[in-house]
Amino acid sequence: MRYSMNVDYLRVSVTDRCNLRCIYCNPLGDHGLRDRDGILDFDEIHRVVRLCAECGVRKVRLTGGEPLMCRNIADLVHRLAAVRGIEDLSLTTNGVSLGPMAVQLKAAGLKRVNISLDAVDRPCYQRMTGFDLLPQVLDGLHKALEVGLTPVRLNCVVMRDGNLSQVIPLAEMAVHLPVSVRFIEYCPTTRATGRADDYVPNAEVRRIVEAHFGPLQSVAVPNAGGPAVYARIAGAAGAIGFISGRSDVFCHACSRLRLSSDGKLRPCLHADRSYDVKGLLRGGAGDEAIRDLIRRVLREKSRYTRITSTAEDFLMQSIGG
Ligand code: SAM
Repeated sequence: MRYSMNVDYLRVSVTDRCNLRCIYCNPLGDHGLRDRDGILDFDEIHRVVRLCAECGVRKVRLTGGEPLMCRNIADLVHRLAAVRGIEDLSLTTNGVSLGPMAVQLKAAGLKRVNISLDAVDRPCYQRMTGFDLLPQVLDGLHKALEVGLTPVRLNCVVMRDGNLSQVIPLAEMAVHLPVSVRFIEYCPTTRATGRADDYVPNAEVRRIVEAHFGPLQSVAVPNAGGPAVYARIAGAAGAIGFISGRSDVFCHACSRLRLSSDGKLRPCLHADRSYDVKGLLRGGAGDEAIRDLIRRVLREKSRYTRITSTAEDFLMQSIGG
């Protein structure tokens, strides 16, 4: 059963390619990805976003794959920021290329960024992501704060055999910086992303944080929306968030649709069914036909709960995490 929720948020995966090999997401690298023709181009993405806005979407997040690997991503940001009705345009990135691009993205109309950061210890970061690029990510984080791509949120997927030791140093970042450090429960998505028992429930992560920093105080973070529950370490500059996609069911708080890089609209990350917008776009469909499809997905979303899903393996990087 779903509570009625205004579905006004679209996540757009702009590419399925990524420059990291995170063990929970993309350990096999670029195997099995689409060629350029299989991926929506910027004109197509712009058209879908415009039509979604006409159907009530107000917030758009660009993700991937790694969105900053798209050449001219700032041009897409610029175009989407100008779509009538879109009030909030954000981006999720691994942060590797963010430092040199932050000023340009801000100028193009990007409001804020989420940065994936699973470790602050350099060898651990390399084990989690396959690359020794922690300094670049930290530079990206500081540039984002400097240019005002705020509020900045840090996404940390916690894996028992991977980065459990990083929970305290990651939480510590929220003590000193005005960022939300969000602990995300690991969700095994393919056989390649490894063992399901690497999952750590957020209740355990919270206990680790509280044992070190003392009891967390609940907070309401403005414009938080979505499934994260926020709390604060006493006296901290930032917040701690928990996204408990496995130990909890938050369908009632989910207001998002997803557009995958290969042009499928999905009512939910876990949906076993998606709708082929690319086929319509490339088959010469008019705006009304595409709006009809968007409205159909919106209606389905209002009925959907994860419990009804039979979806199994999926590639987070093409659907867009
Ligand atoms: N490349 C960008 C990045 O690294 O943030 C955007 C794409 S990545 C797929 C987006 C988010 O998906 C990441 O923040 C990560 O937290 C989440 N994610 C990917 N695989 C996951 C998994 N198996 N379980 C939980 N979260 C996952």
